[in-house]
This record gives sequence, C-alpha cells and structure tokens, in this order.
Amino acid sequence: MSKIEPFAENIFVTRPVFPKIEEVTEKLRDIWTAKWLTNNGPQHYMLERDLEQYLKVPCLSLFNNGTIALMVAVQSLRLQGEVITTPFTFAATPHVLSWNNIKPIFCDVDEETMNIDADKIESMITPKTTAILAVHVFGTPCNVEKIQQVADAYGLKVIYDAAHAFGVEIDGKGIGNFGDISMFSFHATKIYHTVEGGALVHGDKNLKHRIDLLKNFGIKNEDEVVMTGINGKLDEVRAAIGRIMLNYVDGERAKRRALHQIYDEELGDVDGIKLMPKCAENVNLNYQYYVIRIDENIFGKSRDEVYTELKKFNVYARKYFHPLCSEFTCYRQLNSSHVENLPVANVIGKQVLSLPMYGDLTAEDVRKICTIIKEFKN
Ligand SMILES: *Cc1c(COP(=O)(O)O)cnc(C)c1O
Repeated sequence: MSKIEPFAENIFVTRPVFPKIEEVTEKLRDIWTAKWLTNNGPQHYMLERDLEQYLKVPCLSLFNNGTIALMVAVQSLRLQGEVITTPFTFAATPHVLSWNNIKPIFCDVDEETMNIDADKIESMITPKTTAILAVHVFGTPCNVEKIQQVADAYGLKVIYDAAHAFGVEIDGKGIGNFGDISMFSFHATKIYHTVEGGALVHGDKNLKHRIDLLKNFGIKNEDEVVMTGINGKLDEVRAAIGRIMLNYVDGERAKRRALHQIYDEELGDVDGIKLMPKCAENVNLNYQYYVIRIDENIFGKSRDEVYTELKKFNVYARKYFHPLCSEFTCYRQLNSSHVENLPVANVIGKQVLSLPMYGDLTAEDVRKICTIIKEFKN
C-alpha cells in the first residue's frame, strides 16, 4: 500500500466563506455615503427583510451574536426557575440560562438524532419548569411536534437554538417557525455568517417590539427607558456583509452536500463508524457539519486515537460536543448532570468526531481523509 503523505497545508474542521473583497468595498462605499454605522441603519433593515424571506419566517430581529440573541429570547419570554435543555450542545446554550438566573435541567438525547429526547422531557418537568430550550444539533431537526405537545400540555414555552440549522426546512416550512422563538447564529464558522452576528425569529409582532427594545438598552424614545435591556445591535458593516453572504449560501450548501455524499460513500461500509443521521425526505438540510461516531469496540480504535492520528496528517478534526455541558465544572454538581441520568449523551460524547467540512475542500481531500481513517483501522 502506498504511504499517505500529510497534507501540505493544515486542514481545519471548517473555513469561513469569504465574499469577494470588491463586493465588500462597494457596500462599504454605500455606508460611508450614508454616514450611518450602527443603530438600525438601512443595511440592518434590508438584511432583516432579506433573511425573513430566505428563512421563510414572519418576523426577524438581528443581533450582534447568537449568544446575546438567546439571552434576550429568554428575557423576552420572562422565563425563570428551571428550563429543560440538552447537555449535547455548545457551551452558550446552558450559559444563557445561568446568566438569566435560571437552572438548566439536562435531559438525555436521542440515540439517532443526538437531539434532546422528546420522550424524556415530560419526566423532568417540575412546578418550577417554565420552558424547553432545544437545539437542532448539526442541523438535524428536533422532534418539533412532540416537543410542542409536551409544552402545550404543561404550559411551557419552547425556544430553539437553531445555530446549526440555517436554511433547514421541514415540508418546505422554515425551521424557525417552530416553537415560540428560534435563535440563529451568524458566526464566521457557520454556513451563513455576518462575521459575528445572530438573529431571533418568531411569529408575534408584539414580541418583536419587546425583543427590539431589549436589544437596545430598553430605550423606547428620548425620554423613556422601559426595561433593563442590553446592547445586542448588529452594525451596518456586518449587516452589509450579511447581505452579500446571502448570495453565497446556496452555492456553499451545494458544495458541502456533494462532500457529504463522498464522506458517506467512503465511510458508509466501515464497521464501527456511524454516519450522520439520515433525515426524512421532507427535510431540507444545510450540510453545515459532517460528524461521525466511532464505536471503539467495533472499530478497534477510540475516537481520541483517530483524532490524534488525523493530526499527524495535518487534519484538525474536532470533538463536537465533548465534553458535554453536564461535565463542565459549573454544571456537573446538578442532579440532572449525573451520568446515570444521561446514558445516551455520555456514550455519544465519547464517540463523536466532526470532520473537515467547507466548500473549498476538494473531493480528493475528503477521500484522502477517509483513507487515513480506514488505514488506521487496519
Ligand atoms: C455557534 C453556536 C452558538 C453561539 O452563537 P454565537 O453567534 O457564536 O454567539 C450557540 N449555540 C450553538 C449550538 C452554536 O453552535
């Protein structure tokens, strides 16, 4: 067998999409002419309307990042007490609860989708529960129907962290139409970005009014500050970049979709490797991430060993999401964090490996990464 050479350049798990610099300078000229840099300028207004259209949602509010957006979502629904969420997510998800003096209650995840297990939510509800904060992990939709049923039965609010689910649709319906509020992140590492940025979407005009006050210090007008708001505003430069990036997102999605197919083909038959969950026909995915699960007992090597092996070839995969949020020092003392309560999440956390996924990656690169993994197995 021929010896595999390391990649000449480091291959990271992702690489941001860069627009043509000329397009950015042209938009910058518009901003310089308008002499308006932030505070609800024209770029901001137009991006909100463009995104409502792309995401097929009735109402969208832009933010300077997804985390602040999620903090404001929690504030706008006046949540308190306990909120049921998932341990298999990015740190921001439980942190926004803690920053709002709410106790996160970790619910185990579904073995197939890696999302919160909707069938286990009910058993975690207490008189203090006010909401469910679910995450469409890696862009795979949660069981939105079941979650809504449970929420309706107990009078709970539902917030979705849709940071991974930009452009995902169920039956042609934008993923942001489910629950009370959904949050999108436009961080540079996401498939669609505004360098840093985010948004909240919801179906209620009154809620938009409250959200927009909360993201601007609670300032209603020159004479009145009506609530304890924060600075969640997105500036004109990043809003303008966001408008440009909307022209890139479909192309990027198509490229990533093709790369997904190659990973599937190359790794589909490997014993001990589980591919990303397959979604129903009616789901339109965004292909943002490519995540495998490695079962050490069958594959013969652990996830950590594969991760280290890839590094030798200059491939920097990531262990998303490891450690689980329930393992963080700030959460591990919670009752709901105990390993016995989260058996599925604890297994998945040790198996997941996020492989490089971005449009600039070539088919050849992906095949080589797969070869490294397969040769390591033998
Ligand atoms: C990226 C991300 C966030 C945070 O978004 P920022 O825009 O970086 O603040 C929250 N939740 C999940 C699941 C994410 O991946």
